[in-house]
Amino acid sequence: MQKLLLHACCGVCSAYVPERLMPDFDVAIYYENSNIYPSQEFYKRQEAAKIMADGFNLPFIEADYKPADWFRHVRGLKNEPERGKRCDACIYHRLNKTFQYAKEKGFTAVATTLSVSRRKDVNQINTIGYALAKQYGIEFVGRDWKKQEGEKISQRRAKDAGIYRQEYCGCVYSRKNV
Ligand code: SF4
Repeated sequence: MQKLLLHACCGVCSAYVPERLMPDFDVAIYYENSNIYPSQEFYKRQEAAKIMADGFNLPFIEADYKPADWFRHVRGLKNEPERGKRCDACIYHRLNKTFQYAKEKGFTAVATTLSVSRRKDVNQINTIGYALAKQYGIEFVGRDWKKQEGEKISQRRAKDAGIYRQEYCGCVYSRKNV
């Protein structure tokens, strides 16, 4: 089976997407989210994502928290709306790190859970994913995970599991809109 590295951003998104990939891939979850502010929030989401990964009996890889890198990457874009250019830069930053890790460790496919949220633009995510796939020579599995009630199922499972469920996308700018 092909080894797939699944970028995941929280417990809710890790509650359902892995199950869709597991019949076809040997999945490991990669928590790479230096966009999240503040640090307590980063670790709360990490813990929730790990609980769900453990439930699927999948490896859970924790990337270092490097918010200064992320802020450098989105410099000048703080006033952009959600789904705008700041999100382009943010998604690129996290997926690029995911592809880098995948390349280093011999994964042949990458995916991300991000499209499970109705607040996310699947075309924005997948355009970035396919461009990186070309650059790294690794397959990108770009799907709209919110389809087939994906978001509803994720939320319900996360609620049933009693894990932390966030109320904003992740960065300090999205937090202001809550
Ligand atoms: S709103 Fe979400 S996707 Fe956009 S920059 Fe902030 S954390 Fe990243």
